[in-house]
Amino acid sequence: MDVRQELVKLAESKPELAYLVRESLEAVDRSGTLLEIEGARLAILGKKGRVSEIFKHLSEVPAEDRPEIGRVANMLRRYVEAELARKSEELKESDAEAMQKRQALDVTLPGRRAPVGRKHLLTQVIEEVTSIFISLGYWIESGPEAELDYYNFEALNTPAYHPSRSLLDTFYIMKNEPDKNSPDDVLLRTHTSPVQVRVMESRTPPLYVVSPGKAYRREAIDATHTAMFYQVEGFAVDRGIHMGHLKGTLEVVARKLFGSERRVRFRPDFFPFTEPSAEVDVSCHVCEGKGCALCKGIGWLEILGCGMIDPNVFEYVGYDPEEYTGFAFGMGIERIAMLKYGIEDIRLFYENDVRFLRQF
Ligand SMILES: [Zn+2]
Repeated sequence: MDVRQELVKLAESKPELAYLVRESLEAVDRSGTLLEIEGARLAILGKKGRVSEIFKHLSEVPAEDRPEIGRVANMLRRYVEAELARKSEELKESDAEAMQKRQALDVTLPGRRAPVGRKHLLTQVIEEVTSIFISLGYWIESGPEAELDYYNFEALNTPAYHPSRSLLDTFYIMKNEPDKNSPDDVLLRTHTSPVQVRVMESRTPPLYVVSPGKAYRREAIDATHTAMFYQVEGFAVDRGIHMGHLKGTLEVVARKLFGSERRVRFRPDFFPFTEPSAEVDVSCHVCEGKGCALCKGIGWLEILGCGMIDPNVFEYVGYDPEEYTGFAFGMGIERIAMLKYGIEDIRLFYENDVRFLRQF
């Protein structure tokens, strides 16, 4: 027999108790909220509650009945205390659960922000340069970084004795003879120009191509040199292309990159695969040509090399130099980025310090 049944039974033997006990048990059963539980506690166990009421009137009942009534009242008190405590504990737990569920589903809470990456500055500059050429009608081509000597040197009219073929400048992957250059040697391309030969070999003009990519040279690494760097190569081959087209094209590109007010100048230079060849300078965008730290007081910034494609190169790819002419140019992406943003050390691009990279 549990406490509750015992209470009811005991109360029945004392009709004057039966009503109080039953009413108390019902009050406990009815209470479903913390507020109702507190109400029941006061009504039954409080100073003016039913249990106190029983004890207060104990003196009015016959002496022999008093111990039995006292026992019932105490039993009722302990039962109600335990039952209300159990109920309120249960409610608190389910409240906490409900609260957790509400929080888990709270759509008004701000989301947790995932760290967002961004494009590396060199990627941004590559995209900027290539998009300028695409707007001029060029398309993008690419070629292998591990390249044959033939494409990197031979077919670009670079004779075997040219200094750029020295073992010191080039990373060789496979050399057929240690002291001799062979068109079958495999190397890491020293520039992006081999793409010219590969594209011309496989297609016929007109060609208007840009080719961004990595190039490799055995350089001691310092503030302006790295062993791997980015170039954007470009070339146009068509009937009737002349130096005026080259100048006009590169002027447009230089002004789009460095500002519409820039002046552009061409200085004669030498490259084995172009004739004539030129270096292109743009007037300094920091000092407007007066001379400053960026342009080292000269007022001009050297931005790329270019020239008319040497007829010998056309012979290698089977074009008739009497029918087709063309120009080519190549620019270092790191150099363009350094000039554009006033970055003084090329190594910053490759150290991947996000404090540097996220400025751009
Ligand atoms: Zn300047």
